[in-house]
Amino acid sequence: MNTHELWQAVLGELELSLSKANFTTWFKNTFLVTQVGTDMCVGVPNAFTKAWLEKKYHKEILQSLQNLTDNAVRTVSYRVETRVPAMQMSVPAAVSAVNEPVFSSNVSEIPVEQPRPAAPPSGEFTLNGKYAFGTFIVGKQNELAHAAAQAVSAQPGGVYNPLFIYGGVGLGKTHLVQAIGNEMVRKNPNTRVLYVTCERFTNDYINAVRGGQAKEFKNRYRTVDLLLVDDIQFITGKEGTQEEFFHTFNQLYQNNKQIVITSDRPPKAIPQLEQRLISRFECGMMADVGSPDYETRVAILDAKCREKNYPIERDILHHVATVVQTNVRELEGALNKLIAFHQFKNVSPTLESVKPILTSFNPNNTKKNVTPRQLIQTIALYFDLHVEDLLGKSREKRLAFPRQIAMYLMREEMKQSYPTIGNELGGRDHTTAMHAYEKICTCLNEDEKLQHDLELIKQRLYAV
Ligand code: ADP
Ligand code: MG
Repeated sequence: MNTHELWQAVLGELELSLSKANFTTWFKNTFLVTQVGTDMCVGVPNAFTKAWLEKKYHKEILQSLQNLTDNAVRTVSYRVETRVPAMQMSVPAAVSAVNEPVFSSNVSEIPVEQPRPAAPPSGEFTLNGKYAFGTFIVGKQNELAHAAAQAVSAQPGGVYNPLFIYGGVGLGKTHLVQAIGNEMVRKNPNTRVLYVTCERFTNDYINAVRGGQAKEFKNRYRTVDLLLVDDIQFITGKEGTQEEFFHTFNQLYQNNKQIVITSDRPPKAIPQLEQRLISRFECGMMADVGSPDYETRVAILDAKCREKNYPIERDILHHVATVVQTNVRELEGALNKLIAFHQFKNVSPTLESVKPILTSFNPNNTKKNVTPRQLIQTIALYFDLHVEDLLGKSREKRLAFPRQIAMYLMREEMKQSYPTIGNELGGRDHTTAMHAYEKICTCLNEDEKLQHDLELIKQRLYAV
């Protein structure tokens, strides 16, 4: 048996004891480089595989080699090495190569061993210490997401992998995912956490491709213990980024590394998201966050006052919680505004002094400020369409439905007349607007996704 046949036999044994995913991930493109006496050297495609084989599979590999050679082999080492391209072309599947491998003669020029790839230090990229579990107020609308986040930080890479948290703006998604990162780093300072917004991931990827740094990119993203990706909905329609994210995801997932993703909506509702990503996102744990109820709003205000060391009377907090209903970010904004005002005037807040400050947060006031044009823009953005498409003539379903939603909201939220609505939407007849309104009303009764969509659109519409 020559070295090549020997290695094929080893692979054959390992294949039986490993899952297909693990086997392909770790043993694809491996080969026996040399055998000097009783010492074997295995060539591996990258440093990560090297580290992994050394750590996880060394025993099995050695055992198998010894079995097959009647204990002639004593030691195994691993070396990062690449075969010459010609060889790769002649071998259909590297794992089941049939020819005696040919190796590059100038191995030393090929990126030699690197230590474990340059990884981001813990918490690089804006892990913000203030987003901790300790400062997160739990209410009915976020208790599931909160519990899942805690479970993940206690046991990363376990059953809640990936964790997918979704819900409207300002409801604590970023806070929760960063709390996971902070908690894991607190427990083990060596944890490699990478927090990125989807935008950042996209830009990094584009820059890496442009700058010929795909390898560095992969090293950075595929070797962490915890990957937090915020606002994944922005990946819509970006094919290259989706492809890359898919592979990043798989790699981490296979290594039992934890992935946490946030989005403003569930995976299925993200337009132009590849099916394979949808099913990956759905295969772990999905938890939504909703708008806080009155009690939670009061509790949040109370906690924030303590944090800021600025006591405010109970009835004033209740008033703020009554007026500001949309989300936690606005709630905080209102509180900050109120505190700044009174600190500046150097007076204590009273119900009378607070009321005028909060008028801009009153939902009834903000609604009046939205124009039909803004509404149409919001809807176009939400469904990833162009405004012209919504106003245009085409009756394609992907356009017609959002258009009907626009008409419905113009009626429901802005109390516009049907002729006005028809006009605003590309000069359509008032009966079209009427029909749209009725249709959406009917659909809303049974279509939960639509209810959710409308909720999110409204949140965006009135977000300051
Ligand atoms: P999202 O990412 O969902 O848009 P964020 O996590 O940025 O929302 O939350 C907006 C602000 O509200 C942040 O300052 C965050 O700390 C705060 N916040 C949100 N939910 C809570 C909560 N349950 N308890 C305390 N603070 C919260
Ligand atoms: Mg956020």
